[in-house]
Amino acid sequence: MLTRRLFTRLMASLAVVPGTAAHAAGSLLQPANPGPLAFLKRAFDLAETGSSRGEGTPYGAVIVKNNKIVGEGWNRSALKTDPTAHGEVEAIQDACRRLGTRDLSGCVIYTSGGRPCPMCETACHWAELDEVVYGTDAAKPIRHGRPRYPSC
Ligand SMILES: [Zn+2]
Repeated sequence: MLTRRLFTRLMASLAVVPGTAAHAAGSLLQPANPGPLAFLKRAFDLAETGSSRGEGTPYGAVIVKNNKIVGEGWNRSALKTDPTAHGEVEAIQDACRRLGTRDLSGCVIYTSGGRPCPMCETACHWAELDEVVYGTDAAKPIRHGRPRYPSC
């Protein structure tokens, strides 16, 4: 019997789940009034969507370029059985696929929750993102500045 969970896993493995970061051809929802609050709100909405589906813990992120969302993601660690599938990494991968580049300079990442973990902040650094904005509250974006590469 094909359960919903099995179906979701199967579709994720085929990277064709509509409305997910794995569906690069899908259109991205753009806020009616773009700006830091709207982008952070979208990150929180994505976090809730993924969490409610049981795909991972509630963390979401969007990548913004020229005031438009160019990539999005949320924690899919449980769905993908991949401990690196954090919202920020998923959003970076989605933006890179959509823009056809590994260089996201000129882009800003908005992420729900606290400051990105070291893995995600390093991924932001390697993706050349200009700025990290995060929030523990959707109504209070915190500008973190350029992603930092932690030294050992
Ligand atoms: Zn992370």
